Amino acid sequence: MSLSHPHPELTEPGKLPKGGLRVTPLGGLGEVGRNMTVFEYDGRLLIVDCGVLFPEEHQPGVDLILPDFGPIRDRLDDIEALVLTHGHEDHIGATPYLLRERQNIPLVGSELTLALLGSKLREHRLRETVQHKVREGDTISFGPFELEFVAVNHSIPDALAVAIRTGAGLALHTGDFKMDQLPLDGRITDLRAFARLGEEGVDLFLTDSTNAEVPGFTTAEKKIAPAIEQVFRESDQRIIVACFASHVHRVQQVLDSAVAHGRKVAYVGRSMVRNMQIASDLGYLHVPEDVIVDAKELAELPPEKVVMVSTGSQGEPMSALSRIANGTHNFVHIEPGDTVLLASSLIPGNENSIYRVINGLARLGANVVHKGNALVHVSGHASAGELLYCYNIVRPRNVMPVHGEVRHLLANGDLARQTGVESVVYAEDGVVVDLVDGKAEIAGKVECGYVFVDGTTVGDVTESELKDRRILSEEGFVSIIVVVDTVNGTVASGPEIHARGHVWPDNAFDPVKQPIIKAVNRAMSEGATDTYQLQQAIRRTFGRWVSSTHRRRPMIVPVVVEA
Ligand SMILES: [Zn+2]
Ligand SMILES: [Zn+2]
Repeated sequence: MSLSHPHPELTEPGKLPKGGLRVTPLGGLGEVGRNMTVFEYDGRLLIVDCGVLFPEEHQPGVDLILPDFGPIRDRLDDIEALVLTHGHEDHIGATPYLLRERQNIPLVGSELTLALLGSKLREHRLRETVQHKVREGDTISFGPFELEFVAVNHSIPDALAVAIRTGAGLALHTGDFKMDQLPLDGRITDLRAFARLGEEGVDLFLTDSTNAEVPGFTTAEKKIAPAIEQVFRESDQRIIVACFASHVHRVQQVLDSAVAHGRKVAYVGRSMVRNMQIASDLGYLHVPEDVIVDAKELAELPPEKVVMVSTGSQGEPMSALSRIANGTHNFVHIEPGDTVLLASSLIPGNENSIYRVINGLARLGANVVHKGNALVHVSGHASAGELLYCYNIVRPRNVMPVHGEVRHLLANGDLARQTGVESVVYAEDGVVVDLVDGKAEIAGKVECGYVFVDGTTVGDVTESELKDRRILSEEGFVSIIVVVDTVNGTVASGPEIHARGHVWPDNAFDPVKQPIIKAVNRAMSEGATDTYQLQQAIRRTFGRWVSSTHRRRPMIVPVVVEA
């Protein structure tokens, strides 16, 4: 993951010219995750999305990464509303953390989006929230922002694009979308509305960049049915399907196949159980009668009658699937001949974790069907062909690619240019874009970093602490205790060397003991007076030795005791 400040030349933006619209992404531009964009007009703010980013392997112990609220922290009272385009974690997940700073920010979203958010708010004990449920076609105003919602098709039902009208013109934010023409629920991306808005004149078009590098068109969701069907046809033992806990349509296909093959389905994983309950209560998931059973009842069914739908398709270490794969799940144990279907994408950064899970399952004898060996997943994002259509239909004046790593943003901007869009602004997190007199331009940059959530604390973990954790997890640590006689300026006893987290051969440290004693004696003879200086001498000596003779870099904890 790249850090998001490649614009060293940019400084704090000047005052927003009167009648101008200022757009500041606080997350999601330069990474896939923690989407959050702030729109400012006439001193008032509108926020679109407030999501989380999941940590990678080089950020041990971090649970979540939030957008940086720093740039708006002094202006919480200026916020008119928070619009949530859809219910994915990278769009709603950080909302409770923003509401902790001001609980009555009006929340605007579709029925399913607000329902998924609702269970999250309850977990955070946020009860006094203000919610506005909207659907496609609705218009609603907050201060100077007049909003209109447009249906878009994505890998979760009930997703919306939002058109934002202000005195500065019309901005259209696609949210996450694709253009599946035959979706399971028949709700397609409303290109007629895009065309109508285009006729009116879209001054700034913010578009989903995730799949801009992928040529052609994203395959229809329905096209994975034959691969799922094949798994059900060929499997004579248990089937475990892992997918995102919000992918209602994917679960629908699994339910339908289960019914066709006389199997019962259990949800495994807290978020899967919760979200599918919400989706079926609201009618987004159609659950045939008598197909769902409680996961704990599965043991009583013959294996050929069982399907489990599980979370953990991204190899998340604490998820149900990871625990199944390493044999530590409390009631699901893989038997040779079981089939595991990973009906999910490989989000960049998660590859190692996913393959670790696949290997773990295969080692236990499971037949693992995944994106790499069958058509069991299609993306939720528009490919290049779909984006080209959108640019030609909307004919925007300015384009700002959003939602993606730098390569995605650049590829998306290039597509816009190919259709004749002259003004494309490439911003990353913190880079401020002003739309003034119909022209969008980069106006500066605000401080915008990563905010780590570690258990219940927010923002206390720093990059340097993460570096320590990385070293600890990979290399272990070594403590070196030396007792010094400060009167005579010599080592009185030691060094005593103990290692943790990495297994060293017996007596491995013997060769470095004399060099450490020498280094400490020398430091004292050269006038080192405090233990810190002596500790540094020990650290340097041991560090050089361990890296040159063992090619390792453990964390070194020198302890100097005065005799
Ligand atoms: Zn999404
Ligand atoms: Zn997203």
